[in-house]
Amino acid sequence: MAATILLVEDEPAIQELIAFNLQHAGHHVLRAANGEQALTLVRSALPDVVLLDWMLPGISGVELARRLRGDSRTKGIPIIMLTARAEEVDKVAGLDAGADDYITKPFSPRELLARIKAVLRRRAPQMTDDAVEAGGLRLDPQTHRVFGHEKPLSLGPTEFRLLHFLMTHPERVHTRSQLLDQVWGDHVFVEERTVDVHIRRLRAALQDSGHDALVQTVRGTGYRFSPNVA
Ligand code: CA
Repeated sequence: MAATILLVEDEPAIQELIAFNLQHAGHHVLRAANGEQALTLVRSALPDVVLLDWMLPGISGVELARRLRGDSRTKGIPIIMLTARAEEVDKVAGLDAGADDYITKPFSPRELLARIKAVLRRRAPQMTDDAVEAGGLRLDPQTHRVFGHEKPLSLGPTEFRLLHFLMTHPERVHTRSQLLDQVWGDHVFVEERTVDVHIRRLRAALQDSGHDALVQTVRGTGYRFSPNVA
């Protein structure tokens, strides 16, 4: 389960150490030394998780968490606060601001990786290796295979990620812009019609088992995965 992790930490030695451990575990790390840099990075591509230091120059970690939660585009990103403070009142303030979890320095790389996995499982099920099944369609991230009524289907890598996201967020309408953010991780440099192209390819791949109707077009809005139509 490789994730793109935005690390917001102003102390270079700590930033380096955490980034090293995350990269070693196979994650892709984006680094910011303050809140402004973090917001700039988030504007061009959405990370899967934000690791957020509490004490930052300029915008504080708590304030940054509040801003990310207050924006519809970023409100779903899991946030783990990193802090040297262990007081209960601070922990409550961090969670109130929208953090999903809280980890007190010093922490072991193993503990951090376990926390990251836990928040991803809770908030971003498409980032985990758990198999998903709906309406006779089964997607297994570990083996990278998709079955429709037990019949193997052939999907390209983008169609696979798209289907994974849709299956883990069923019955909701996603705009093209949201899909670019969630599936491509980037909504600035990719045109929205790219989404339509991949939806078309995904439906063509699902046609083999008659599951193409599960991927619905919601006129004027976007797309929805609905396992209840089959
Ligand atoms: Ca700091």
